[in-house]
Amino acid sequence: TGELSAQATAAEQGYEGALRPTSLAEFVGQSKVRRQLGLLLDAATMRRHTPDHILLAGPPGLGKTTLSMIVATELEKPLHQTSGPAIQHAGDLAAVLSALTPGEVLFIDEIHRMARSAEEMLYLAMEDFKVDIMVGKGAGATSVPLELSPFTLVGATTRAGLLPNPLRDRFGFTAHLEFYSDDELAKVVGRASKLIEFALSESGVDEIARRSRGTPRIANRLLRRVRDYGLVHDLPGDTSTVQAALALYDVDDHGLDRLDREVLSAVVERFNGGPVGLSTLAVSVGEEAETIEAVVEPFLVRTGLLSRTPRGRVATRAGWEHLGKVPPGLPAE
Ligand code: ADP
Repeated sequence: TGELSAQATAAEQGYEGALRPTSLAEFVGQSKVRRQLGLLLDAATMRRHTPDHILLAGPPGLGKTTLSMIVATELEKPLHQTSGPAIQHAGDLAAVLSALTPGEVLFIDEIHRMARSAEEMLYLAMEDFKVDIMVGKGAGATSVPLELSPFTLVGATTRAGLLPNPLRDRFGFTAHLEFYSDDELAKVVGRASKLIEFALSESGVDEIARRSRGTPRIANRLLRRVRDYGLVHDLPGDTSTVQAALALYDVDDHGLDRLDREVLSAVVERFNGGPVGLSTLAVSVGEEAETIEAVVEPFLVRTGLLSRTPRGRVATRAGWEHLGKVPPGLPAE
C-alpha cells in the first residue's frame, strides 16, 4: 500500500485517533446516515433496549470505524473491536462473544473476511444471543448451548454485496457511506488543521479537500504532509505550499492515487479504452478483483473517468483526457 492507499498505516493510527469525531454532531457529511443512525440510537435508549445490528458499507477511510466508536459512545457502552481476518475459526468468535458484557457494542471490521464456520455461529448469536459450542472431538463431540449478553453488532464491509444473504439479512440497518463532497472534505480538513494547530488558508484547505479522493482519511493524511512541508521549508499554510507538497507526493490534480491511475491507464492503453472485464483488468494491474471493484472503481466512476457497462469497464472521454490522450474516433484538437 502506497502513500495514498485508503487503508490506515500502523504509524498513523495515533494521529487518526486524535482526529476522530466523537459524536454524531461532530461527524462531517453523510447527513442521511447520521439522521438514520441518530433515530435508531435515540429509540433504543428510550426503549432501554439494545439497538438493531448495524452494517456500515463503503470504501476504506470514509468513517466506518469512527461511526462504530460513536455508536458505543452515544449508547454509553463499551466497544470491543475486532476484524474478519482475525476470526479464522468459530472458536475465535465464540471467545469474543462470550466475553461481551450486556449492551456492549461489537465492531467487526472487514466482516466479509470472516471464516465460514464463524459466520454460521454469528447468525444465531445475532438473532437469539446464543451460540452452540462444540465440546470434545470425533464421536464423543457434543454441542453445548451458551447464552450471551445482548449486544449490538456493528459490521463494516467495503461492499454490502460481499456478504452472504443470511448474514446481510440479520442487520436491522444498513448504512451505505458515500464519497464526500469537496465542501465536506474542506470541513474535515479545517477541523483537523485546528486540532493539530497548523494554520492553513481557506484556499489551502480547499486545495487539499479537492485532491483527497473523496476520503476523509486521505484528507487528513495530505494535511499532515503539507504541515511537514511547511515546517521543514518554513512556509505558511497557503495554496502554493499545498501544491508544492502534493506535487512531491505525486498526488494528481483529481486526487487519483497510484492504483487509480494504473487501472485507468490499463483500460486506456492495454485495452484501448475497453470494454474490459473486471477479472481481466485485475490480473493486468496485479490487484485483487475485490479491491478494484470496491475501492478503485467506485471512485473512478464517481469522478466520471470510467463507466461500467454490461460488457465491462469503459474509459470515458474524460478518462482518456485525464491521461493526456485523445479517445479514438475523435479528431485531435
Ligand atoms: P474506515 O473505518 O471507513 O476505514 P475511519 O473511521 O477509520 O474509516 O476514518 C478514517 C479517518 O478519517 C479517521 O481518522 C477520522 O478522523 C476521519 N474521518 C472519517 N470520517 C469522518 C467524518 N465524517 N468527519 C470527520 N473526520 C472523519
